[in-house]
Amino acid sequence: MIVDLHTHSYYSDGVLSPKDIVMKAVNAGCHYLSLTDHDSIEGLTEASTCSKDLNLNFIQGVEISAKHLSYSIHIVGLGINPNNKFLVHGLMKNNKLRIDRAKEIGKSLAHVGIENAYEKTKSLSKTKYITRTHFAQMMIKEKICNNLPSVFKKYMTGNKPGAVKVDWASSIDVINWIHQSGGLAILAHPLRYKLTSTKMKKLVSELKDIGLDGIEIVNSFSSLDDIARSKKIADDYELLYSCGSDFHGWSNQSIELGKIPLYDYGKKFVINYL
Ligand code: AMP
Ligand code: MN
Ligand code: MN
Ligand code: MN
Repeated sequence: MIVDLHTHSYYSDGVLSPKDIVMKAVNAGCHYLSLTDHDSIEGLTEASTCSKDLNLNFIQGVEISAKHLSYSIHIVGLGINPNNKFLVHGLMKNNKLRIDRAKEIGKSLAHVGIENAYEKTKSLSKTKYITRTHFAQMMIKEKICNNLPSVFKKYMTGNKPGAVKVDWASSIDVINWIHQSGGLAILAHPLRYKLTSTKMKKLVSELKDIGLDGIEIVNSFSSLDDIARSKKIADDYELLYSCGSDFHGWSNQSIELGKIPLYDYGKKFVINYL
C-alpha cells in the first residue's frame, strides 16, 4: 500500500496546486494522501474535492510550526476538521508571526546588501503565505545563490541574517488545536532536529505527556537504520507510526511524492486510526 501523509502545495512552500498534488498522487499509485501545508489549510477543499472525483482516499492535514522549550518543531495534524474555530484561529496567529518575521528578514537582508528582499519575495508567493523557502527561491532567481541548500546554509539558518527567530505557538497549544479539530498530532521528521538520543527521548516524552499521538518513522530519505531508530522511539512512548515524503515539488529537490521506502507498519499505523 502506498501512503503519503506529508506533502506541500503552493498554499505554503510547495510549487504545485492542490489539484496537481492529487493528480500526482494518483499517478504515483497512492492509496492514501494527505496535504499538510505549513500553518495553512487553504488548499484542503480543492484537494479533497479533486480526490473524491479521482477515487483517492484523502486525509485532511496541516503541518504546524510549534515551539517546545528552546526548539522549533513541526507537528503534523492528520484527520483534522479545517472548519474548527480553535484550529483556524490558531493558524491565523502563526501566520501573523510569519508575516512579521518575513518583514524582519527583509530588513536583516538589507543590512548585508540584499535590498527589497521582502517585497521581491512576497511577489514570488502565489498566496499570502511566506516561508523561508520563498526567500531562498528569490535569492536563486536573483542569482545570489545557486541552490536551496546553499541559501539555507549562507543566509537562512543558525546565526545568519535571514534566520530570524519566531515565537511560534507552544507545542501544548498546537496539539490542543489539532485535538479540538478531531485530528491526530504527529511529530514530523524527528531525526531532522539533530538531537542527541537523550534530548530526543526527553522531547518525545514531554510531547507524549501533553498528548502527542504519533511520530513519522519513514520519509523520503529514511534508511533502514533511520526507520529502526524512529520506530524504537515510537514504541518506547507508545506512539503511532506515520510516514510521508515531505514533497514540495521544487525542481532542485530530489524528493518525489509517494516515493518513500515501503514498510510493513502493522497495527500501529496511523491510517488505522483515521
Ligand atoms: P519556515 O517554516 O518558513 O521556517 O521554512 C521552513 C521550510 O524551509 C522547511 O519546511 C523546508 O521546506 C525548508 N528548509 C529548511 N531547511 C532547509 C534546507 N537546509 N534546505 C532546503 N530547504 C530547507
Ligand atoms: Mn517546507
Ligand atoms: Mn517540516
Ligand atoms: Mn513538511
